[in-house]
Amino acid sequence: MPWNPIIKSRRDWETIPNLHDYESVRKEFSWEQARTELDGLPDGQGLNIAHEAVVRHTIGPLGQQTAIRWLGKSGQVEDYSYARLDDLTNRFANTLQGLGVVKGDRVFVLAGRIPELYITALGTLKHRAVFCPLFSAFGPEPIRARLTIGQAKVLVTTESLYQRKVAGIRETLPHLEHVLLIGEEGRPTATPIPGTQSFHQLLEQHPGIYRIGPTDPEDAALLHFTSGTTGTPKGALHVHSAVVAHHITGKLALDFHPADIFWCTADPGWVTGTSYGIIAPLTNGLTSIVDEADFEAKRWYGILQDHRVSVWYTAPTAIRMMIKVGVDLVRKYDLRPLRFLASVGEPLNPEAVVWGEKAFGRPFHDNWWQTETGGIMIANYAAMDVRPGSMGRPLPGIEAGIVKKTESGGVEVLNEPDVQGELALRPGWPSMFRGYWNEPERYKKCFASGWYLTGDVAKKDADGYFWFVGRADDVIKTSGHLIGPFEVESVLIEHKAVAEAAVIGKPDPVAMEIVKAFVSLKDGHEPSEALQRELLGFARTRLGAAVAPKEIAFLATLPKTRSGKIMRRLLKARELGLPEGDTSTLEA
Ligand code: AMP
Repeated sequence: MPWNPIIKSRRDWETIPNLHDYESVRKEFSWEQARTELDGLPDGQGLNIAHEAVVRHTIGPLGQQTAIRWLGKSGQVEDYSYARLDDLTNRFANTLQGLGVVKGDRVFVLAGRIPELYITALGTLKHRAVFCPLFSAFGPEPIRARLTIGQAKVLVTTESLYQRKVAGIRETLPHLEHVLLIGEEGRPTATPIPGTQSFHQLLEQHPGIYRIGPTDPEDAALLHFTSGTTGTPKGALHVHSAVVAHHITGKLALDFHPADIFWCTADPGWVTGTSYGIIAPLTNGLTSIVDEADFEAKRWYGILQDHRVSVWYTAPTAIRMMIKVGVDLVRKYDLRPLRFLASVGEPLNPEAVVWGEKAFGRPFHDNWWQTETGGIMIANYAAMDVRPGSMGRPLPGIEAGIVKKTESGGVEVLNEPDVQGELALRPGWPSMFRGYWNEPERYKKCFASGWYLTGDVAKKDADGYFWFVGRADDVIKTSGHLIGPFEVESVLIEHKAVAEAAVIGKPDPVAMEIVKAFVSLKDGHEPSEALQRELLGFARTRLGAAVAPKEIAFLATLPKTRSGKIMRRLLKARELGLPEGDTSTLEA
């Protein structure tokens, strides 16, 4: 393979970057060739993500190797070998079979980073149902919206999340036939809750042998929800052949080598936590660290040291939090095995790259992708000098361009270097999303002149490096999570005092942006601190901590276009003290 360097010693095998020569690998690369690194189902029965991630490794020495090392919040360490993971995911696939779940049905999970989440994901894929993860910090409203849009048939969640967030909305979910509950600390549920079954009892009752049925590479596999400026959340659908991209981008962009211990800090409620927190390390036969707890500098450095992490994939918000704590703490830990550091999800400030060098002796390698692309598209590679502030260069097999929309509805490619435009990609890679669930029109709008339009504004320099400029739309990135303003506004206007609401991303030194809402009140209601607190609490209860606004301001009226559309951009400009731009369409 063009990406496998010439190896002369064991050390070379462990350390020479897979993408040792960007230009030549890019020239020779083909997705067909990348596919040959995977096995496919026996007897030519197709391609299944769970077979590549788990089953194929159980035959041979990898069977007893740790696939997932789970670190519990309270200090537990539990290893799942590939063989054990195979057994448990077979049991879950048989459970689904027993429940009458068929190919293509949607199985949702709402849980923190606990082993049952990983068992559900891989068991669902084995059964050829569609895996849909939900972020556990969502409140009832985002959960209800996503379960409804995705017509969830099964939900796997914990007893406590169910009681707090789902029981109250259950009646509004007619498609949801089965709720499988995990008890506290992963134990079987203590007392049966009406309308639910115990996840662990079902696993025990079902056999650990399961044969994956024929899987067409184009069969639906993963449904990841994301947000746009308007409308409800969108379910981006990915198919089983996406595994080719997960696997090869792990090798080329994250530089996976066979003996690596890999830690992806992302939550599987978001796409990174699935593509790289579950699938890519397992297809590559690595040991993947899963930490249940949230960021805490000492805990994180302890994990890197104690578990001898060699490749680490994290995010700018976490890096900024580490910078706040300072380099002295890092230096107390022995992090010699750490070989490659990467970051995704938000712009990585040049200072953060440089800080990585200072603290860890290695830079953070920024890379770019999004829910719709399913895998890394643009990256700084191990064998290349990092350009601090740049997202890097497109992966082999990926054509990226900077484009401008034309009046005829197409796009024109801007070939001049350093010109700002929308970042676009030529479709054709295996992890490209295949649609927004039940929304063909929204999907169609993402394409023009044979390009997929990403919604990001960027520039390309004369050497082919891409630089992020901003979003072309109004979505908000907070702590690496994409939030749609419409979802937040819809909840705020349900409060009896609120007439109108508009939500923006307000810059924040750590989270990049925080969700800020502006509201105008109905007659008979006056702005007050008490009402502000009430609205913050109302939004938090309904939306959950991850989505709810952190700040709310009152305005007599919200600025609108003459056609009645609230001008979020103007609110943002005013918030930042920036020029207001074109206000010719502003309502008089
Ligand atoms: P999501 O679909 O939630 O993964 O969010 C994808 C969006 O996050 C992209 O469209 C970008 O706006 C942003 N993003 C992801 N990676 C980067 C990066 N390396 N630099 C700047 N923005 C990024």
